Amino acid sequence: MTDSTEWGFSTRAIHVGQEPDALTGAVTTPIYQTSTFAQDGIGNHKGYEYGRTGNPTRTALEECLASLEEGAHGLAFSSGMGAVSAVAYLLKQGDHVVAHDDLYGGTARFFNKLLSNFGVETTFVDASDPAAVQAALRPTTRLVWLETPTNPLLGIVPLKAVADLAHAHDPSLLVVVDNTFASPYFQRPLTLGADIVLHSATKYLGGHSDVVLGAVVVKDKALDERLRYIQNAAGATPGPFDSWLVLRGLKTLSLRMRRHEDNAMAIAVFLSMHPHVGKVIYPGLPSHPGHNLAREQMDGFGGMISVELHGGLDAAQRVLARTKLFTLAESLGGVESLIEHPGLMTHASLGAERRQEIGLGDGLIRLSVGIEDEADLLADLAQALEGK
Ligand SMILES: *Cc1c(COP(=O)(O)O)cnc(C)c1O
Repeated sequence: MTDSTEWGFSTRAIHVGQEPDALTGAVTTPIYQTSTFAQDGIGNHKGYEYGRTGNPTRTALEECLASLEEGAHGLAFSSGMGAVSAVAYLLKQGDHVVAHDDLYGGTARFFNKLLSNFGVETTFVDASDPAAVQAALRPTTRLVWLETPTNPLLGIVPLKAVADLAHAHDPSLLVVVDNTFASPYFQRPLTLGADIVLHSATKYLGGHSDVVLGAVVVKDKALDERLRYIQNAAGATPGPFDSWLVLRGLKTLSLRMRRHEDNAMAIAVFLSMHPHVGKVIYPGLPSHPGHNLAREQMDGFGGMISVELHGGLDAAQRVLARTKLFTLAESLGGVESLIEHPGLMTHASLGAERRQEIGLGDGLIRLSVGIEDEADLLADLAQALEGK
Protein backbone atom coordinates (compact mmCIF):
# COMPACT_ATOMS: atom_id res chain seq x y z
CA MET A 1 0.00 0.00 0.00
CA THR A 2 1.08 3.57 -0.72
CA ASP A 3 2.29 5.43 2.36
CA SER A 4 -0.73 7.60 2.88
CA THR A 5 -0.35 8.69 6.48
CA GLU A 6 0.86 12.14 5.39
CA TRP A 7 -2.05 12.82 3.07
CA GLY A 8 -4.99 15.03 3.96
CA PHE A 9 -8.51 13.71 4.40
CA SER A 10 -9.75 14.39 0.86
CA THR A 11 -6.68 12.78 -0.73
CA ARG A 12 -7.06 9.68 1.43
CA ALA A 13 -10.78 9.48 0.61
CA ILE A 14 -9.95 9.32 -3.11
CA HIS A 15 -6.78 7.21 -3.07
CA VAL A 16 -6.39 4.90 -0.06
CA GLY A 17 -7.13 1.30 -1.01
CA GLN A 18 -7.85 2.50 -4.55
CA GLU A 19 -4.67 2.18 -6.59
CA PRO A 20 -5.31 1.65 -10.32
CA ASP A 21 -6.19 -1.99 -11.03
CA ALA A 22 -3.00 -4.07 -11.34
CA LEU A 23 -4.40 -6.19 -14.19
CA THR A 24 -5.98 -3.57 -16.48
CA GLY A 25 -5.02 -0.15 -15.17
CA ALA A 26 -8.67 0.71 -14.48
CA VAL A 27 -8.57 3.95 -12.52
CA THR A 28 -11.65 3.24 -10.46
CA THR A 29 -11.80 0.13 -8.30
CA PRO A 30 -13.52 -2.64 -10.31
CA ILE A 31 -16.71 -4.21 -8.98
CA TYR A 32 -15.56 -7.80 -8.48
CA GLN A 33 -19.04 -9.28 -8.93
CA THR A 34 -18.13 -12.86 -8.05
CA SER A 35 -18.99 -15.24 -5.23
CA THR A 36 -15.83 -17.34 -5.43
CA PHE A 37 -12.21 -17.18 -6.62
CA ALA A 38 -10.19 -19.77 -8.55
CA GLN A 39 -7.38 -21.47 -6.64
CA ASP A 40 -4.16 -22.63 -8.32
CA GLY A 41 -3.98 -25.56 -5.94
CA ILE A 42 -5.69 -26.43 -2.68
CA GLY A 43 -5.14 -23.49 -0.34
CA ASN A 44 -3.01 -21.72 -2.97
CA HIS A 45 -4.89 -18.55 -3.95
CA LYS A 46 -4.43 -14.81 -4.54
CA GLY A 47 -5.78 -13.73 -1.15
CA TYR A 48 -9.45 -14.37 -1.88
CA GLU A 49 -11.35 -17.67 -1.62
CA TYR A 50 -15.03 -17.02 -1.05
CA GLY A 51 -17.13 -13.85 -1.32
CA ARG A 52 -18.39 -13.77 2.26
CA THR A 53 -14.86 -14.06 3.61
CA GLY A 54 -13.47 -11.35 1.38
CA ASN A 55 -13.85 -9.48 -1.90
CA PRO A 56 -11.36 -7.00 -3.45
CA THR A 57 -13.99 -4.25 -3.85
CA ARG A 58 -14.92 -4.64 -0.19
CA THR A 59 -11.23 -4.62 0.79
CA ALA A 60 -10.76 -1.28 -1.00
CA LEU A 61 -13.67 0.19 0.96
CA GLU A 62 -12.42 -1.26 4.24
CA GLU A 63 -8.92 0.18 3.78
CA CYS A 64 -10.28 3.59 2.86
CA LEU A 65 -12.64 3.68 5.86
CA ALA A 66 -9.81 2.68 8.23
CA SER A 67 -7.72 5.56 6.92
CA LEU A 68 -10.50 8.16 7.17
CA GLU A 69 -11.26 7.20 10.79
CA GLU A 70 -7.51 7.24 11.62
CA GLY A 71 -7.74 3.59 12.60
CA ALA A 72 -5.78 0.62 11.31
CA HIS A 73 -8.47 -1.87 10.27
CA GLY A 74 -11.87 -1.43 8.62
CA LEU A 75 -14.68 -3.96 8.31
CA ALA A 76 -17.77 -3.54 6.14
CA PHE A 77 -21.18 -5.03 6.91
CA SER A 78 -24.48 -5.41 5.09
CA SER A 79 -26.06 -2.60 7.16
CA GLY A 80 -25.39 -0.40 10.16
CA MET A 81 -27.35 -2.91 12.25
CA GLY A 82 -25.20 -5.71 10.80
CA ALA A 83 -22.20 -3.81 12.17
CA VAL A 84 -23.94 -3.36 15.54
CA SER A 85 -24.70 -7.07 15.82
CA ALA A 86 -21.15 -8.04 14.80
CA VAL A 87 -19.77 -5.93 17.67
CA ALA A 88 -22.32 -7.55 20.02
CA TYR A 89 -20.94 -10.99 19.09
CA LEU A 90 -17.85 -9.99 21.10
CA LEU A 91 -20.04 -10.49 24.20
CA LYS A 92 -21.03 -13.62 26.07
CA GLN A 93 -23.72 -14.56 28.57
CA GLY A 94 -23.38 -12.64 31.84
CA ASP A 95 -21.67 -9.64 30.26
CA HIS A 96 -22.95 -6.13 30.91
CA VAL A 97 -23.26 -3.14 28.59
CA VAL A 98 -23.53 0.54 29.54
CA ALA A 99 -25.25 2.45 26.74
CA HIS A 100 -26.19 6.07 26.19
CA ASP A 101 -29.92 6.55 26.78
CA ASP A 102 -30.24 8.66 23.61
CA LEU A 103 -29.20 6.06 20.99
CA TYR A 104 -30.43 5.37 17.49
CA GLY A 105 -33.78 3.59 18.02
CA GLY A 106 -32.68 0.44 16.18
CA THR A 107 -29.62 0.07 18.39
CA ALA A 108 -31.65 0.49 21.60
CA ARG A 109 -34.18 -2.04 20.26
CA PHE A 110 -31.35 -4.49 19.49
CA PHE A 111 -30.03 -4.29 23.08
CA ASN A 112 -33.49 -4.38 24.67
CA LYS A 113 -35.26 -7.00 22.57
CA LEU A 114 -32.55 -9.26 21.13
CA LEU A 115 -29.34 -9.15 23.17
CA SER A 116 -31.35 -9.41 26.39
CA ASN A 117 -32.47 -12.91 25.27
CA PHE A 118 -28.84 -14.05 25.43
CA GLY A 119 -28.15 -13.07 29.04
CA VAL A 120 -26.51 -9.74 28.26
CA GLU A 121 -27.91 -6.89 30.35
CA THR A 122 -27.78 -3.26 29.20
CA THR A 123 -27.96 -0.25 31.51
CA PHE A 124 -29.00 2.96 29.75
CA VAL A 125 -27.64 6.18 31.25
CA ASP A 126 -27.28 9.80 30.18
CA ALA A 127 -23.72 9.49 28.88
CA SER A 128 -23.44 13.25 28.38
CA ASP A 129 -22.80 13.12 32.17
CA PRO A 130 -19.57 11.13 32.76
CA ALA A 131 -20.52 10.59 36.43
CA ALA A 132 -23.63 8.69 35.29
CA VAL A 133 -21.47 6.37 33.18
CA GLN A 134 -19.05 5.89 36.08
CA ALA A 135 -21.90 4.96 38.44
CA ALA A 136 -23.28 2.36 36.01
CA LEU A 137 -19.99 0.47 35.45
CA ARG A 138 -19.82 -3.05 36.93
CA PRO A 139 -17.03 -5.64 37.12
CA THR A 140 -18.86 -7.45 34.28
CA THR A 141 -19.17 -4.36 32.03
CA ARG A 142 -17.52 -5.19 28.69
CA LEU A 143 -18.84 -2.44 26.41
CA VAL A 144 -19.65 1.24 26.76
CA TRP A 145 -21.81 2.27 23.80
CA LEU A 146 -21.94 5.92 22.83
CA GLU A 147 -23.43 8.04 20.07
CA THR A 148 -22.71 11.73 19.48
CA PRO A 149 -24.32 13.90 18.19
CA THR A 150 -27.47 11.99 19.08
CA ASN A 151 -30.67 11.51 17.15
CA PRO A 152 -32.88 13.57 17.04
CA LEU A 153 -31.95 15.85 19.96
CA LEU A 154 -28.32 16.31 18.86
CA GLY A 155 -26.90 15.86 22.35
CA ILE A 156 -23.10 15.86 22.64
CA VAL A 157 -21.22 13.24 24.70
CA PRO A 158 -17.74 14.13 26.04
CA LEU A 159 -15.93 11.27 24.32
CA LYS A 160 -12.48 11.68 25.87
CA ALA A 161 -13.79 11.99 29.44
CA VAL A 162 -16.08 8.95 29.13
CA ALA A 163 -13.47 6.79 27.35
CA ASP A 164 -10.84 7.67 29.97
CA LEU A 165 -13.02 6.78 32.94
CA ALA A 166 -14.21 3.56 31.29
CA HIS A 167 -10.62 2.47 30.65
CA ALA A 168 -9.58 3.48 34.18
CA HIS A 169 -12.32 1.15 35.44
CA ASP A 170 -11.06 -1.68 33.21
CA PRO A 171 -8.45 -1.23 30.48
CA SER A 172 -9.89 -4.16 28.52
CA LEU A 173 -13.38 -2.66 28.39
CA LEU A 174 -14.32 -1.55 24.87
CA VAL A 175 -15.67 1.92 24.16
CA VAL A 176 -17.83 1.93 21.03
CA VAL A 177 -18.84 5.16 19.28
CA ASP A 178 -21.51 5.29 16.59
CA ASN A 179 -20.09 8.10 14.43
CA THR A 180 -22.87 8.12 11.83
CA PHE A 181 -24.10 11.68 12.45
CA ALA A 182 -20.71 13.41 12.38
CA SER A 183 -18.89 11.27 9.78
CA PRO A 184 -15.09 10.98 10.05
CA TYR A 185 -14.77 14.33 8.30
CA PHE A 186 -16.08 16.11 11.39
CA GLN A 187 -15.18 13.68 14.21
CA ARG A 188 -12.69 10.83 14.71
CA PRO A 189 -13.54 9.00 17.96
CA LEU A 190 -10.51 6.66 17.80
CA THR A 191 -8.30 9.71 18.36
CA LEU A 192 -10.37 10.59 21.46
CA GLY A 193 -9.98 7.24 23.21
CA ALA A 194 -12.64 5.02 21.59
CA ASP A 195 -11.73 1.41 20.76
CA ILE A 196 -14.37 0.84 18.08
CA VAL A 197 -16.01 3.32 15.74
CA LEU A 198 -19.17 2.26 13.97
CA HIS A 199 -21.17 3.64 11.04
CA SER A 200 -24.38 3.34 9.23
CA ALA A 201 -22.70 4.04 5.87
CA THR A 202 -26.25 4.24 4.54
CA LYS A 203 -26.18 7.87 5.68
CA TYR A 204 -23.32 10.37 5.05
CA LEU A 205 -20.61 7.90 3.93
CA GLY A 206 -22.69 6.60 1.02
CA GLY A 207 -24.32 10.00 0.84
CA HIS A 208 -26.71 9.46 -2.07
CA SER A 209 -29.57 7.49 -0.46
CA ASP A 210 -28.95 4.58 -2.81
CA VAL A 211 -27.34 1.93 -0.60
CA VAL A 212 -27.63 0.29 2.84
CA LEU A 213 -24.27 -0.62 4.39
CA GLY A 214 -22.47 -0.62 7.75
CA ALA A 215 -18.88 -0.28 8.90
CA VAL A 216 -16.60 -0.78 11.89
CA VAL A 217 -13.07 0.62 12.30
CA VAL A 218 -10.56 -0.31 15.03
CA LYS A 219 -6.89 0.34 15.81
CA ASP A 220 -6.01 -2.88 17.62
CA LYS A 221 -4.88 -5.88 15.57
CA ALA A 222 -6.18 -8.53 17.99
CA LEU A 223 -9.59 -6.83 18.10
CA ASP A 224 -9.61 -6.68 14.29
CA GLU A 225 -8.91 -10.42 14.14
CA ARG A 226 -11.82 -11.18 16.49
CA LEU A 227 -14.17 -8.95 14.49
CA ARG A 228 -13.02 -10.34 11.15
CA TYR A 229 -13.70 -13.84 12.45
CA ILE A 230 -17.21 -12.70 13.44
CA GLN A 231 -17.74 -10.91 10.11
CA ASN A 232 -17.12 -14.19 8.27
CA ALA A 233 -18.73 -16.51 10.81
CA ALA A 234 -21.93 -14.48 11.36
CA GLY A 235 -22.00 -13.39 7.72
CA ALA A 236 -23.63 -9.93 7.57
CA THR A 237 -21.35 -8.85 4.72
CA PRO A 238 -22.08 -6.35 1.95
CA GLY A 239 -22.03 -7.22 -1.74
CA PRO A 240 -19.37 -5.86 -4.11
CA PHE A 241 -21.68 -3.37 -5.83
CA ASP A 242 -22.87 -1.89 -2.52
CA SER A 243 -19.25 -1.67 -1.37
CA TRP A 244 -18.42 0.18 -4.60
CA LEU A 245 -21.29 2.64 -4.15
CA VAL A 246 -20.03 3.62 -0.70
CA LEU A 247 -16.45 3.83 -2.00
CA ARG A 248 -17.68 6.27 -4.65
CA GLY A 249 -19.57 8.20 -1.99
CA LEU A 250 -16.43 8.57 0.14
CA LYS A 251 -14.61 10.37 -2.68
CA THR A 252 -16.83 13.44 -2.23
CA LEU A 253 -17.41 13.13 1.53
CA SER A 254 -15.37 16.22 2.45
CA LEU A 255 -17.10 18.42 -0.15
CA ARG A 256 -20.52 17.16 0.81
CA MET A 257 -20.00 17.54 4.58
CA ARG A 258 -18.84 21.17 4.16
CA ARG A 259 -21.89 21.97 2.06
CA HIS A 260 -24.29 20.09 4.39
CA GLU A 261 -22.91 22.19 7.22
CA ASP A 262 -22.98 25.54 5.39
CA ASN A 263 -26.61 24.96 4.45
CA ALA A 264 -27.51 23.71 7.94
CA MET A 265 -25.96 26.75 9.61
CA ALA A 266 -27.86 29.14 7.34
CA ILE A 267 -31.12 27.30 8.00
CA ALA A 268 -30.51 27.12 11.77
CA VAL A 269 -29.96 30.90 11.89
CA PHE A 270 -33.02 31.58 9.70
CA LEU A 271 -35.28 29.31 11.77
CA SER A 272 -34.09 30.64 15.13
CA MET A 273 -35.42 34.09 14.11
CA HIS A 274 -38.72 32.78 12.74
CA PRO A 275 -41.86 33.67 14.75
CA HIS A 276 -43.44 30.22 14.31
CA VAL A 277 -40.40 28.42 15.66
CA GLY A 278 -39.99 27.74 19.38
CA LYS A 279 -36.54 26.27 19.49
CA VAL A 280 -33.80 25.31 17.03
CA ILE A 281 -31.54 22.45 18.11
CA TYR A 282 -28.23 22.59 16.21
CA PRO A 283 -24.79 22.09 17.79
CA GLY A 284 -23.41 24.94 15.68
CA LEU A 285 -25.58 27.50 17.47
CA PRO A 286 -24.02 29.02 20.62
CA SER A 287 -27.43 28.46 22.31
CA HIS A 288 -26.95 24.67 22.04
CA PRO A 289 -25.92 23.24 25.46
CA GLY A 290 -23.22 21.08 23.83
CA HIS A 291 -21.85 23.84 21.57
CA ASN A 292 -18.49 24.33 23.33
CA LEU A 293 -17.90 20.61 23.70
CA ALA A 294 -18.76 20.09 20.03
CA ARG A 295 -16.23 22.80 19.12
CA GLU A 296 -13.58 20.93 21.10
CA GLN A 297 -14.08 17.39 19.88
CA MET A 298 -15.48 17.96 16.38
CA ASP A 299 -14.20 19.80 13.31
CA GLY A 300 -17.70 20.87 12.31
CA PHE A 301 -21.32 20.56 13.38
CA GLY A 302 -22.89 18.52 10.59
CA GLY A 303 -26.09 18.75 8.63
CA MET A 304 -28.81 17.64 11.05
CA ILE A 305 -31.20 20.13 12.68
CA SER A 306 -34.18 19.55 14.96
CA VAL A 307 -36.83 22.23 15.29
CA GLU A 308 -39.56 22.62 17.89
CA LEU A 309 -42.49 24.45 16.28
CA HIS A 310 -45.06 26.59 18.10
CA GLY A 311 -48.41 24.86 17.74
CA GLY A 312 -47.38 21.26 18.44
CA LEU A 313 -48.44 18.36 16.24
CA ASP A 314 -50.80 20.43 14.05
CA ALA A 315 -48.06 22.88 13.16
CA ALA A 316 -45.56 20.08 12.54
CA GLN A 317 -47.96 18.20 10.27
CA ARG A 318 -48.72 21.35 8.32
CA VAL A 319 -45.05 22.07 7.66
CA LEU A 320 -44.38 18.45 6.73
CA ALA A 321 -47.23 18.57 4.23
CA ARG A 322 -46.10 21.86 2.70
CA THR A 323 -42.38 21.51 2.01
CA LYS A 324 -41.55 20.77 -1.61
CA LEU A 325 -37.77 20.36 -1.68
CA PHE A 326 -37.54 18.79 1.77
CA THR A 327 -38.92 15.31 1.09
CA LEU A 328 -40.92 13.59 3.81
CA ALA A 329 -38.86 10.48 4.56
CA GLU A 330 -36.89 8.63 7.23
CA SER A 331 -33.11 8.29 6.98
CA LEU A 332 -30.59 11.11 6.59
CA GLY A 333 -27.21 12.08 5.21
CA GLY A 334 -28.02 12.06 1.50
CA VAL A 335 -27.47 14.87 -1.00
CA GLU A 336 -31.21 15.63 -0.99
CA SER A 337 -32.90 17.40 1.94
CA LEU A 338 -35.30 15.32 4.01
CA ILE A 339 -37.84 16.25 6.67
CA GLU A 340 -39.52 13.97 9.19
CA HIS A 341 -41.49 13.86 12.45
CA PRO A 342 -39.48 11.84 15.03
CA GLY A 343 -42.47 11.41 17.36
CA LEU A 344 -44.62 9.71 14.70
CA MET A 345 -41.88 8.22 12.51
CA THR A 346 -38.30 7.34 13.52
CA HIS A 347 -38.92 7.48 17.28
CA ALA A 348 -42.53 6.26 17.51
CA SER A 349 -41.39 3.02 19.15
CA LEU A 350 -40.07 4.92 22.21
CA GLY A 351 -43.66 5.51 23.38
CA ALA A 352 -45.24 8.85 24.32
CA GLU A 353 -44.03 8.76 27.93
CA ARG A 354 -40.36 8.21 27.11
CA ARG A 355 -40.51 10.84 24.35
CA GLN A 356 -41.90 13.37 26.84
CA GLU A 357 -39.22 12.40 29.35
CA ILE A 358 -36.33 13.14 26.99
CA GLY A 359 -37.92 16.31 25.61
CA LEU A 360 -38.98 14.97 22.24
CA GLY A 361 -42.20 16.94 21.80
CA ASP A 362 -45.03 16.55 19.27
CA GLY A 363 -44.02 19.83 17.63
CA LEU A 364 -40.52 18.55 16.91
CA ILE A 365 -39.44 18.06 13.29
CA ARG A 366 -36.05 16.84 12.12
CA LEU A 367 -34.26 18.12 9.02
CA SER A 368 -31.52 16.31 7.16
CA VAL A 369 -30.17 19.29 5.28
CA GLY A 370 -28.95 18.35 1.81
CA ILE A 371 -26.51 20.02 -0.54
CA GLU A 372 -28.99 21.89 -2.76
CA ASP A 373 -28.70 25.67 -3.15
CA GLU A 374 -29.07 27.43 0.19
CA ALA A 375 -31.51 30.04 -1.16
CA ASP A 376 -33.88 27.36 -2.46
CA LEU A 377 -33.88 25.47 0.85
CA LEU A 378 -34.54 28.70 2.80
CA ALA A 379 -37.36 29.64 0.45
CA ASP A 380 -38.93 26.19 0.77
CA LEU A 381 -38.94 26.36 4.56
CA ALA A 382 -40.19 29.96 4.53
CA GLN A 383 -43.21 29.09 2.37
CA ALA A 384 -43.93 25.96 4.43
CA LEU A 385 -43.96 27.99 7.65
CA GLU A 386 -46.22 30.72 6.19
CA GLY A 387 -49.78 31.14 7.34
CA LYS A 388 -51.60 29.22 10.01
C1 LIG B 1 -29.40 4.46 10.46
C2 LIG B 1 -28.57 4.34 11.69
C3 LIG B 1 -28.13 3.08 12.16
C4 LIG B 1 -28.55 1.79 11.50
O1 LIG B 1 -27.99 1.67 10.24
P1 LIG B 1 -28.67 0.86 9.01
O2 LIG B 1 -27.71 1.08 7.91
O3 LIG B 1 -30.02 1.48 8.79
O4 LIG B 1 -28.78 -0.56 9.46
C5 LIG B 1 -27.32 3.06 13.28
N1 LIG B 1 -26.97 4.19 13.92
C6 LIG B 1 -27.37 5.40 13.50
C7 LIG B 1 -26.94 6.62 14.25
C8 LIG B 1 -28.18 5.52 12.38
O5 LIG B 1 -28.60 6.73 11.98
